[in-house]
Amino acid sequence: MRALHAGEVLRLWDECRDASPQTRALALATAADDGTSPVPPADRPVGRVTALLLRLRNALAGPRMAATVGCPGCHGTVEFRATTEALLALEDEIVDTPPPLPHGGHEVLWRCPSYRDLQAVAAQPEAEDPEHGALLLLQRCLLSLRQEDGTAAQSAVDLPDTVRGALTEAMASADPLAEVLVDLRCPDCGYAFTAEFDVAAFVWAEVESRGRQLLLDIDALARSYGWSEHEVLALSESRRASYIRIVTGELP
Ligand SMILES: [Zn+2]
Repeated sequence: MRALHAGEVLRLWDECRDASPQTRALALATAADDGTSPVPPADRPVGRVTALLLRLRNALAGPRMAATVGCPGCHGTVEFRATTEALLALEDEIVDTPPPLPHGGHEVLWRCPSYRDLQAVAAQPEAEDPEHGALLLLQRCLLSLRQEDGTAAQSAVDLPDTVRGALTEAMASADPLAEVLVDLRCPDCGYAFTAEFDVAAFVWAEVESRGRQLLLDIDALARSYGWSEHEVLALSESRRASYIRIVTGELP
C-alpha cells in the first residue's frame, strides 16, 4: 500500500463526497494501491478492496477501530471494537481463482464478485429488490452454467435453489472480507445478533473527518501566516500540528 499525503486526502474527499458508496470505496482503494498487481482494484475480489481500505485506515488513524450499530431488540446503540490487523488476517483466505463447484456430474465455473460487479448491479433498477440484486450478482459471476441434463442454463434463475445456495456459500467462504460480520450482544437488553461492519463506509467517514480537519487547519494557518493552501499541505503532518498548537496557544 502507498501512504496518502494530506493533499490526496483532501482531493479524494472533494471528488467523492457526492459519489456512490462503491465509487468512493474504489477511489480510496485505487489511491492506496501500490500498483504491483496487474489487476485493477475494481476487478479484484471485493475483499481485496476492503483490505486496501483497512491498510489505508491503519495509516490514517492506527489499527484500533470503534463503531456503533443499532440493536434490533431495543433500538439502542451497541458499540463494538475491531482491529485492522485482525481483519487483515482474513485476507490470506481470499481465493482469487476459485475451483469449479461440482453440480450433478457437471461443474459450475464461477468467480468472486468484484466492485465492478457491484457497480453494474447497483446501476440496474431491478437491484432495488435485494433478492433480485443478489441474483443479478450471481449471474455476473457465473462463468459457465450447465444444468443437470448437461444443457447450458440461460441464467442463474435456471439453477436449482440448492446450487444457487451452494454458490452463495462458496463465494462467501472464498472472500471472507467481502462482507465483515460481527456477532454482538446488546449490553442493555441482552439481545444477541449478527451485524455487518461496513468497512468502506467506516473508512470513508475517517477520510471525511480528515478532510474537514485539514480545511480547518489550512484556514487557521492561512489567517495567521498568510500561507497558501499548497504551502500548508506541503508541511509534514507533525509540523502542521505544531503550527496549529502555536496558533491556538497550546504550544508555549
Ligand atoms: Zn438492545
